[in-house]
Amino acid sequence: MDLPDLVDAHAHLDQYEGEQAQVLAELETNRILTLAQSMDPDSYPVLQTLAARSPWVVPCFGVHPWRAPAWVEQLPRVAATARQALALGEVGLDHHFVQEPEHYPAQREVLECLLDVARDRDLIVNLHSTGAERLVADLLVEHRIRRAIVHWYSGPWDVLDDLLALGAYCTVGVGVLRSQHQEELAQRLPADRLLTETDNPGGWEWLTGTQGRPELLRNVIARIAELRDETPRNIIRLVHANAVSLGMPGLEGPAEHSRP
Ligand SMILES: [Zn+2]
Repeated sequence: MDLPDLVDAHAHLDQYEGEQAQVLAELETNRILTLAQSMDPDSYPVLQTLAARSPWVVPCFGVHPWRAPAWVEQLPRVAATARQALALGEVGLDHHFVQEPEHYPAQREVLECLLDVARDRDLIVNLHSTGAERLVADLLVEHRIRRAIVHWYSGPWDVLDDLLALGAYCTVGVGVLRSQHQEELAQRLPADRLLTETDNPGGWEWLTGTQGRPELLRNVIARIAELRDETPRNIIRLVHANAVSLGMPGLEGPAEHSRP
């Protein structure tokens, strides 16, 4: 039986400057459906342009917590753009890499604005939670978020259990090729909540100094398969089934992707 498409539930395709044609070709060759994450309202139109060129790109709108202080004064614009989007991301809080507590209120205000839109429109939210995992979990409850993807989870395991109890899905990405915590995450996640990602090009660059390409997803899948004592084919099937259960945009049917 044919394998379903691969899923990269979190990547930053606008950051491949000058290489976008090659990157789109790589998505097509490898059949990688990608949830393309925005950093802010400026990166979103770039993703919309890429999506117009490729059925493998799902443009998501968000304001990354690192960018929240720059956008907190423009929440009406942020909310209006979010209301037009197919899915939200990257959104969240960062109390680890952002060491200035004076920026935390802006992060929270922007996140809460976007969570309100997600709840009203039943959108998927793609979450960054570094160092603020418990608070992110609390805000998902408070805002009654039904469809969450927790990206590159690096927090305590008891909070992960609580996020899973809320119905969240979690990605395993390129970190699994380098970090014991991410290996353990790949082993701990229940089969029905596992998704895959790359966070490329920056994810691999952060780990190794070299820009990551979309097809690195295949290495991630192979490593998850090893860690879960499964075949890569079964991991691909599992992740695709999970993306369908979550109602990930872009998976409406194979016809959309079966270009000659
Ligand atoms: Zn990201």
